[in-house]
Amino acid sequence: MHQSMRGSSRPKTALDTKGINRDIQQSTDTLRAFSASSGIRQIEAVVDRGRLKERMSFHRHGRQGGDTVLSRAIALLAVFCLIPSAAAPAWGAGFARNCDYIVFADDQALADAVIAQASKYRKEIALRWLGEELPPAVGRTVINVTISSDEDRGLTLPAEGPGRQLHNIWLTTSRERATGSTLAHELTHAILATRYPRDLPVFASEAIANLQDDAERSAIRHRTISWFARTNNWPLLREIFEAEVISSVDSASYAVASSVAEYLCTLSSEPKFLQFAIDGKRIGWDQALRTHYKLESVEQLQRQWQEWVLRTSASTTALSKNTAAQAR
Ligand SMILES: [Zn+2]
Repeated sequence: MHQSMRGSSRPKTALDTKGINRDIQQSTDTLRAFSASSGIRQIEAVVDRGRLKERMSFHRHGRQGGDTVLSRAIALLAVFCLIPSAAAPAWGAGFARNCDYIVFADDQALADAVIAQASKYRKEIALRWLGEELPPAVGRTVINVTISSDEDRGLTLPAEGPGRQLHNIWLTTSRERATGSTLAHELTHAILATRYPRDLPVFASEAIANLQDDAERSAIRHRTISWFARTNNWPLLREIFEAEVISSVDSASYAVASSVAEYLCTLSSEPKFLQFAIDGKRIGWDQALRTHYKLESVEQLQRQWQEWVLRTSASTTALSKNTAAQAR
């Protein structure tokens, strides 16, 4: 077996056994650190006929239809085939790896598709929001995919805590969204956390990631904003900006974050919004609005945003109805 690892015709997945093993160890260390302060109930390592399996289960509840903590047990976090001649894990699961991503998925075709799309999104999202690509191997990310016919959930655990060396993403969703909008949403969090590990306010990270969502999710948020406008029950933007945590079930706040981000992006560029959010957290929101948008205060932004919503909500509502009809 070990001889085959040194041959020129060896399978690619067997080439860098030490490297893969190190990645898995880092991923496992990250999860162990996370488990101490989170809802992960159990992590167990199982050595099964030469394969190391890391299993864990969650008991935290996910948010309805958005960025989530997984609400049901997830098994098979990290699977590493220790048999060098095997090109893929032998039990049918898929594994793919490059310098930026490590993907575990239900089958090999899915793992290959996810890593190809992740690499594409990594470039697109970084260019759109950061103005440049991330350097190779910076912000390495483990992506764990479980296909589900009736769930659409994602969680990103950034590599910013003690013992966390890799970003970790979990997706429980359809094949289409695992290579599409839900993947792109979670990758956005990871890419932003790579560039701005501690500087980005919660509302901004979520607002930017939400822009990757599909039409069905966007339509739900637009209906929420239309309701605020119609009933004159406006949430306060200052509270949204200053929130250190937005509950995973607070879909209304996520809708407001997305809407105000959309509005500010109509005033200037998307990177400008990102810079405003970072500066707002650092120097205060009124000062950041003066610097980037020539607005006097959050209260002035509040008034302008509400007027913008009122102007656009009628057409948006009509669009949402059409989109929802098409989605069905
Ligand atoms: Zn999110």
